[in-house]
Amino acid sequence: MRILMASSEVYPFSKTGGLADVLGALPEALVKLGHEVLVVSPWYKTLKEATPLWIGDVEVPFDGGATACGVGTYEKNGVRYVFVGNSAFERDSIYGYDDDVKRFCLFTRAVPQVSARVGFVPDVVHAHDWHTGYLPMVLEHGWHMPDGFAHKPTVFTIHNAQYQGLSGIEETLYWLRLPTSLTDSYMNYFGYANAMQAALGFAWHVTTVSPTYAEEIKGPEFGYGLDGSFRHISNKLTGILNGIDTGIWNPETDPNLPQTYTAKRLDKKLENKRALCERFNLDPSKPLIGVVSRLVDQKGIDTVIEATSELLWQDWSLIVLGSGATSLENDLHALTAANPGRMASYIGYDEGLAHHIYAAADALAIPSRFEPCGLTQMIAMRYGTLPIARATGGLVDTIDHDRTGFLYEHDRPEGFLWASGVARGAYAAQDHWRYMMSEAMSEDFTWESSAQTYIDLYKSLG
Ligand code: ADP
Repeated sequence: MRILMASSEVYPFSKTGGLADVLGALPEALVKLGHEVLVVSPWYKTLKEATPLWIGDVEVPFDGGATACGVGTYEKNGVRYVFVGNSAFERDSIYGYDDDVKRFCLFTRAVPQVSARVGFVPDVVHAHDWHTGYLPMVLEHGWHMPDGFAHKPTVFTIHNAQYQGLSGIEETLYWLRLPTSLTDSYMNYFGYANAMQAALGFAWHVTTVSPTYAEEIKGPEFGYGLDGSFRHISNKLTGILNGIDTGIWNPETDPNLPQTYTAKRLDKKLENKRALCERFNLDPSKPLIGVVSRLVDQKGIDTVIEATSELLWQDWSLIVLGSGATSLENDLHALTAANPGRMASYIGYDEGLAHHIYAAADALAIPSRFEPCGLTQMIAMRYGTLPIARATGGLVDTIDHDRTGFLYEHDRPEGFLWASGVARGAYAAQDHWRYMMSEAMSEDFTWESSAQTYIDLYKSLG
């Protein structure tokens, strides 16, 4: 099959979270199954590790007229990439601007044009998250569609239902060059244009990244105002669990680690702990809990902050890597200063340090309020680091309590401390901890079976 993917982030070129990881791994897994994949994403100022060949501009129908966008082509491990060039994407960050919806409408509108320019006419079009939420609607109703693109089967994947892309209806239709007759279509969310809801309505099939999250979003607690829409489309909504790129996340070969190791040589894992503790001035004889996370409300890091003194009393040490909300960053700085030798924090985004923490820590705290799939628990398990996680979304689908990690229900410091206490007991009984480490490390988190599920889905639409 010829599969066209569109996403605002693709690892290793651009990344703020798990969406990028998925787009970095799933296309390669689909290629391995014998399919052709073209991934389209914006060309950001901050883009890494790509030296595309710029083959000229295309005229993208946009904003009542046409906008020129550059077409940069690239190929890696059998996957074809096209980067869309425009000054709208050449900023210091990927997101966070008042005109984000307009910027990603331009990107969305460019997808068919750039694909046609490189001669890729797809059998199926797969869009990811709100940034490309209007793609199914554009393929269904857009003017100036290149040959072979109109009415193509579409799949839309929700990586996070909280971010939906809101804008004014009239202006959005004008940007996308869509007829005003669509004003009262699925895009209309109480008088505003909602990119995610448009995707729910117009995509042929909707997936989210774990079976549990696919159920949770049908209720008000997790649906972020779209629970009614999720219930309405439940006949075409399924959950397909993400995998991780086990080539990149591999303790046996990871170049970011001071010491590589396998499940058979767990003594070597300790070397990573020693090196990390030395770097951050922590006591290596204490069990160590790590956190690798965006610092946003969803991730519940405030729970760990509130629980820290009790956590240290349980005899854990703590290291946090994250960036996001300034108030959380300040709290972490203050806690670190108050607990020398027992707690460390690094505020920022650092891939290498993330790898080192996964390898060095004994456990990883994931106190998420909701978690569509979550990758950090799978990465941690692959590195023999046991997740202590809230029982929500993909965390439920990937962690087996007291075998591969620890789960707790209550979104409160008490809930988290209950689980960290259970984990502390297991750690003290070294045999049980070792058993859990080897169980966690032998879990299969490869993309293979999920990629096949996507193929079966694409074929069912054709
Ligand atoms: P989300 O996409 O909601 O942020 P996921 O668990 O799906 O959460 O994916 C998080 C990804 O981002 C993982 O690859 C994790 O290692 C990485 N990550 C998160 N925060 C940081 C950070 N501060 N530095 C480096 N990597 C990070």
